[in-house]
Amino acid sequence: MKNIFTCLLAAFLTQSIIAQPYNIVIKGGHVIDPKNSIDAVMDIGIRDGKIAIVNKNVDTIGALQVVNARGMIVTPGLIDIHSHNFTGTEENHYLSNGFSALAPDGFTFRVGVTTVVDAGGAGWKSFSLFKKNIIDHSQTRVLSMLNIVGEGMRGSPYEQDTRGMDGKMTSLVAKANPAYVVGVKVAHFEGSEWTPVDRAVEAGTLAKIPVMIDFGSSNPPLSLEELLMKHLRPGDIFTHCFGQVRGRETIVDTATGKVKQYVKDARQKGVIFDVGYGGISFAYSQALPALRDGFYPNSISTDIHTGSMNNAMKDILSVMSKFLNMGMPLPEVIKASTWSPAQIIQKPELGNLSPGSEADIAVFSMHSGRFGFYDYTGVKTVGEKKLECEMTLRAGRIVYDLNGIATPVYPIQVR
Ligand SMILES: [Zn+2]
Repeated sequence: MKNIFTCLLAAFLTQSIIAQPYNIVIKGGHVIDPKNSIDAVMDIGIRDGKIAIVNKNVDTIGALQVVNARGMIVTPGLIDIHSHNFTGTEENHYLSNGFSALAPDGFTFRVGVTTVVDAGGAGWKSFSLFKKNIIDHSQTRVLSMLNIVGEGMRGSPYEQDTRGMDGKMTSLVAKANPAYVVGVKVAHFEGSEWTPVDRAVEAGTLAKIPVMIDFGSSNPPLSLEELLMKHLRPGDIFTHCFGQVRGRETIVDTATGKVKQYVKDARQKGVIFDVGYGGISFAYSQALPALRDGFYPNSISTDIHTGSMNNAMKDILSVMSKFLNMGMPLPEVIKASTWSPAQIIQKPELGNLSPGSEADIAVFSMHSGRFGFYDYTGVKTVGEKKLECEMTLRAGRIVYDLNGIATPVYPIQVR
């Protein structure tokens, strides 16, 4: 008898230890976690800033907050790999310590974004200032693609001076900051030589990171086929992939409405096609035929700055909603905004809901109705679906809750 009692007591104690309460439980949402092939109604338990469990029924006993996500979509926190965040107050500094870039926390959490990659705001000379002013003061996880221009994205004449493009120095700063530097950026070059691309690829090869190319400003134009097939490596990123501006070759042949064969070959080779929506870098005249041809972007990103966010682009959910309404399935849209970008920037610990991962999570409502979507050329479409962010968690903490779906709304403070 005594033995049975001891056994029961031991079992009870073991159970109590195992059944430690979760800090937050998200109940009843439709979880889409492409890395783990989850696309079903699930609960998520969060403990100590990490995902503890994803399961059909997670116990809420003892939880500090319970989130009612019934009827909502729950995904890993979004990763925007083309963003402009090096905000500052220097005159004539454009997106490098200038007035056109955005402080991350002001626009990320309200749309489900938990990680941004600043695409070339800082170069090797200005990265330490970017880290001090922006990375270290943001709750959003801020990463960087170093501009091949040492001064970063300061505009002309700096971005035209090939003497300021140093592959070796760029790679050294990247290698000294592996937690933050995830790539090398080329943009806005108007000369007709390959120097910026090749120096960036040199830096990327030395630091073992991808390059991201904003292509098409050269006069006379450089060949897109040569860029994709000869200069870029597998894993390198062609951003603004649905752009259609004068002087820039397009991925869709406008005569046939089909994606060019060499573009398909480049994808086969491993080149990444990123949206990088921006001010004038997304046109329905390219995106609609490309999607009809089955050519989805690898990653959905915004190229957000003070110009694009108040124009056709708006925010990442507006861009994702455009792709949904063009026929890209929701799980694909979520994958292109979470797990795919995590892999592209070589941070496979991000963009997923695996137990043990940092609990960066987004909760969305999908609204039905008639919504207008337009591009910078004035082409307008009407869509029936639109995503809205209900809640964002960063490292296991609720950092945005639109309608108060957490109970209690604020965790009771234990002092
Ligand atoms: Zn950009």
